[in-house]
Amino acid sequence: MNKRKNSGYRKSGKNRNKSEKQYGQQPTARRSRTGGKSQGANDGRERSKKTVTAEVSCSGLTNDGKGIVQWKGKRLEVAHLMPGETAEVLVSTTGRTVKTELKRITNRSKDRVKPPCSYYYDCGGCQLQHMSERAQKRVKQETVEALMKSFGKPEPIMAMDHPYDYRNKSHTTFGLNKNRQIIGGLYAQNTHDIIPMDRCLIHDPKADEVVNTIKNMMKSFKMQPYNEDTRRGFLRHVLVKVGKVSGEIMVVLVAATSVFKGKNNFVNALRKTHPEITTILLNVNNRNDSMVLGDQEKVLFGKGTITDTLCGLKFDISAKSFYQINPVQTEKLYKKAIEMAQLTGKETVVDAYCGIGTIGLIASKKAGKVIGIELNKDAVRDAIGNSKRNGVKNARFYQGDAGHFMVQMAARGEKADVVIMDPPRSGSDEAFLSSVVKLQPKRVVYVSCNPVTQERDLKYLVKNGYAVESIQPVDMFPQTNHVETVVSLELKL
Ligand code: SAH
Repeated sequence: MNKRKNSGYRKSGKNRNKSEKQYGQQPTARRSRTGGKSQGANDGRERSKKTVTAEVSCSGLTNDGKGIVQWKGKRLEVAHLMPGETAEVLVSTTGRTVKTELKRITNRSKDRVKPPCSYYYDCGGCQLQHMSERAQKRVKQETVEALMKSFGKPEPIMAMDHPYDYRNKSHTTFGLNKNRQIIGGLYAQNTHDIIPMDRCLIHDPKADEVVNTIKNMMKSFKMQPYNEDTRRGFLRHVLVKVGKVSGEIMVVLVAATSVFKGKNNFVNALRKTHPEITTILLNVNNRNDSMVLGDQEKVLFGKGTITDTLCGLKFDISAKSFYQINPVQTEKLYKKAIEMAQLTGKETVVDAYCGIGTIGLIASKKAGKVIGIELNKDAVRDAIGNSKRNGVKNARFYQGDAGHFMVQMAARGEKADVVIMDPPRSGSDEAFLSSVVKLQPKRVVYVSCNPVTQERDLKYLVKNGYAVESIQPVDMFPQTNHVETVVSLELKL
């Protein structure tokens, strides 16, 4: 059912698509293996597959960085093809489903570079490594410009000086190869096949070193990787979080069962090789779905959290709490968001979708009072701890659905001068936005990792009395097609 037809938004809270930004972890859903998007639905009947080689030229890019081509009157998408390029493309048709695969480039773009990562074309975690940094910046700028054109012209994107090694969080999945040797790595694009890899160029190198040690230890500790099909074995994933400033490291061993034979020896041996590990947890995930983390969690060593510093404040981060994955760019993003809020020291600021309270706590120095609202209870616990740890007296954090919370605030006739909102990829909802309109804060600062849903939500606010003042794209995820955008709006009455 397309709810947008009725209200424009999903109802708040329920049945949300779980994204990394929502739960601090990445779903591992299978994607289709070819880079090209399927066009048209397969009607379920068995159809034979027909593959032809087509000569195409690329006229532009989709929002997710794939090349757009025309073929026999159809618009097709081809992964890794760039505007201005011509190429031979394999086009496979099964029923009404059309898939594409880049075979040979016949005319190369001057912005094409050799991807520095040797797994790039199989992995799918990055989508733009075949483009120069200049081209990546341009693609993201143009994506935001095209989406936001009815609101104004975006500022030039804030790029990253060294656009690698930035991810402070990594997940690695373990399995056996054909020779029954233990392998660890990321899933190949659109599959649950593991690509064995020792290094991912956007990960913090320290995280990869720890994972490689674990992989080697598994053999000597006779620790079996989990097999999704037989549902046998022990270790499913390893999640590593690194505090960029503190250097603290969290290791989460995600296992299929809580029975961990030789646990103490394993923990001691790991710590011996990596004394920089400050906490180790066991997370038990015996479900058969695509989420990385299960509900049960046990601290095996240390305090169960790591600390990091952002914009001069210290933050405790749990395994399950969301924390921005690129701390270098996050500082730029937060500074911009708080500057856009134009605080004078008196305002009541709502930090909606606040995670572990980062934006609200950083803003608290310049605000009268901060009210943070967040769905994830671990994140709220971290936010409350973080406000104490930083001696912040004017911030309160609440657990709940942001939309529901705002409806209640509006019903009680409470006031908010500034709302800073940073929802997950799915965006906000009508409950939240209609309450913003009722509460009438003089300013709204909307931070988003998905400009498509952000644009939808901005339209609602603009229709209901707000005007967009400025639009700032920030490259939080270099080498990937993702772009973060912060937009400020002012109440016009
Ligand atoms: N502002 C934070 C977190 C942003 S990520 C930061 O910069 O770190 C988005 C956050 O929204 C996640 O912490 C997620 O748990 C939370 N969230 C998702 N759905 C929500 C909802 N319906 N109500 C409140 N919070 C929600």
